[in-house]
Amino acid sequence: MAEEHLEATDRDAVFPEQALAQMRRTGLLGLLVPAEHGGCSGTLTDLVDVSMALGRVDMSVGMIFAMHCQQSEAIVRYAASPLREELLAQLAAGDLYLASVTTEPGKGGHLFRSYAPLQESDDDTLMIDRVAPIVTGGAAADGFLITMRSPHATADHHVSLVYAHRHQLRIEGAGEWCPMGMRASHSLPLTLTGSIPARQVIGQHGAFHQIAQSVFGPLAHIGWSAVWLGTAAGALSRVVRLLRDPAGRKRFDLSSQLLMTRLSRVRQRLDTVHALLRRTETLAASDVDLSDASSQLLLNSLKITASEECYRAVDELVDAVGLRHGYMQDSPTRLEKSLRDLRSAALNYSNDRLHLADGQLCLLDPDVRFV
Ligand SMILES: Cc1cc2nc3c(=O)[nH]c(=O)nc-3n(C[C@H](O)[C@H](O)[C@H](O)COP(=O)(O)OP(=O)(O)OC[C@H]3O[C@@H](n4cnc5c(N)ncnc54)[C@H](O)[C@@H]3O)c2cc1C
Repeated sequence: MAEEHLEATDRDAVFPEQALAQMRRTGLLGLLVPAEHGGCSGTLTDLVDVSMALGRVDMSVGMIFAMHCQQSEAIVRYAASPLREELLAQLAAGDLYLASVTTEPGKGGHLFRSYAPLQESDDDTLMIDRVAPIVTGGAAADGFLITMRSPHATADHHVSLVYAHRHQLRIEGAGEWCPMGMRASHSLPLTLTGSIPARQVIGQHGAFHQIAQSVFGPLAHIGWSAVWLGTAAGALSRVVRLLRDPAGRKRFDLSSQLLMTRLSRVRQRLDTVHALLRRTETLAASDVDLSDASSQLLLNSLKITASEECYRAVDELVDAVGLRHGYMQDSPTRLEKSLRDLRSAALNYSNDRLHLADGQLCLLDPDVRFV
């Protein structure tokens, strides 16, 4: 389904409505929702496997799914009753596709800060007025998880996470979506205003950092890396099929040592990312406290390594097969699209920001303990 429409959604930079409809119909939107709430009780391994499978076909669809799962897991673990039960039932029924609003003007991707104040009013209501520079699927989402500066905050890092249903907000487009890649993610700039009942805070006011460290960070880095690996693996697979094809055998010199070395390097990059992904997935699925320095370093390392190596792997495939199949939009290898899409990986929560955090985390771990 995702493959059928990807040429049009990429060309026109529009949201993959058909793929979302399938995610609703098949229960994928409720993958991580416990079975007692009607969901699939999926594991982190399921999330990784599905994200990789979708990424093989279309990185935008994969990221839409992985980001939704990250949001839904925050509800599973941190929403209070009765909001939790209401939202989990909607997720399981495929009626709730969740968008994420963490990026903010002036702070870029910095996750632990927010400047837009969440205002409390007398009647147990919270007022939202939030500029959101980039919201994947924002025009299609049924609900939003939004970070804002907590009521009574005394510092920028006192951040609250709130849930707002689409009908509780006035949603205005604040610009165009015309990117190099990830075009079908339709990540529009939006302005969100409205009011929600106070019970729609997820977790405690001011304690978003706990959700970020236990859910948002780990699931983002693991889910995104799985999608990126899927995208690069799909690219390699299509190239290898082309080379093995009778027509490909005529076109390419399979005895070329340069070609073999390039293929080997690409595969080596992907196996490295895969090993790191599975190791991190095992750690995150265990009961350990992920906020310690060694765990955070591993999670960040996964994100940085996957974003760099998957991009480099596809870039190397472009050299391996040359202009006709590496650079042209109409090649069945789809390397041109994969490369454009994967270029976003290092920017999607800036690798530079993660390196800065990692440098500080390194100083906290003088024994250099690996987890
Ligand atoms: C396809 C896609 C979809 C996205 N979807 C969403 C979404 O749905 N919701 C959402 O909230 N966000 C979304 N994002 C945003 C993403 O998660 C990042 O937060 C965002 O891309 C960061 O934007 P930025 O590069 O402008 O900002 P920054 O992170 O501020 O980076 C800007 C520049 O500053 C540099 N820099 C960063 N920190 C420092 C520092 N401390 N010192 C010096 N230089 C620094 C970086 O290297 C970079 O060059 C999406 C991004 C992409 C690419």
